[in-house]
Amino acid sequence: MDKLRFISFASGSSGNCFFVGNATQGILIDAGIGIRTMKKRLKEIGLEFSDILGVFITHDHFDHIKSVKPLVDKLLIPIYGTKETLSSIAQLQQLGSQFIAGQKIISKEEPVSIGDWKITAFEVSHDGTDNVGYSVEYKGHTFTLATDLGYVCENSARYISDADYLVLEANYDEEMLANGPYPYMLQERIRSNTGHLSNSDAGRFLADNYSDKLKYIYLCHLSHSNNLPELAYCTVSELLADKGIIAGKDVELVTLERTSPSKLYVFE
Ligand SMILES: [Zn+2]
Ligand SMILES: [Zn+2]
Repeated sequence: MDKLRFISFASGSSGNCFFVGNATQGILIDAGIGIRTMKKRLKEIGLEFSDILGVFITHDHFDHIKSVKPLVDKLLIPIYGTKETLSSIAQLQQLGSQFIAGQKIISKEEPVSIGDWKITAFEVSHDGTDNVGYSVEYKGHTFTLATDLGYVCENSARYISDADYLVLEANYDEEMLANGPYPYMLQERIRSNTGHLSNSDAGRFLADNYSDKLKYIYLCHLSHSNNLPELAYCTVSELLADKGIIAGKDVELVTLERTSPSKLYVFE
């Protein structure tokens, strides 16, 4: 009952929401899908909103915060985030005193304990108001999530390298982006150090920083226009293979779907 579980409810520019917990409770990271879908997805894994101890927000882009308002107003679920992120969300979603009173301000690098869970926010490089990834420690396991990052800065590298289970962005294929439908300005934003991580950036980082404690890599936030799941998988697995690390043997490699949930992973 108390084994660590993970499921992605959705991942990508049309919405992000992830559950990390056990069979009876847990947290959500990001709230970028509709509240009814969230409820349905929780029910599918035997949970309700009352089992959610808090929702941890990575940054204030809409695909990560869509449902913050109903979570606060109707469901009274605590929302965790940095001061800058939460005040930006309060403005963007016109949240009132209830939000201000119930919000849980956290600081980067300062772990928050909720029951058996210890959650640490760490800096990532992106163009939201303030941007973090999360590392979740639970009964000797470390689960880390870093999405929406232009590059892996020194700070985030520490947390990403330390994971047993890792969700890491693989947003775009460099060629698909260059030859795709996006205008040049937008391409440049995506490529910049405060944009998104490419398949090969993710693969190279993973290959260079692999440790045998890493059991699962989940590639997240795949672009609809500039990436394909098979391409992300191949690029990353080939870069790992160059360093003698075999996906499916030394580490499990999974691409997360954009709008449908992943399977539920129960970690031993
Ligand atoms: Zn995003
Ligand atoms: Zn973003």
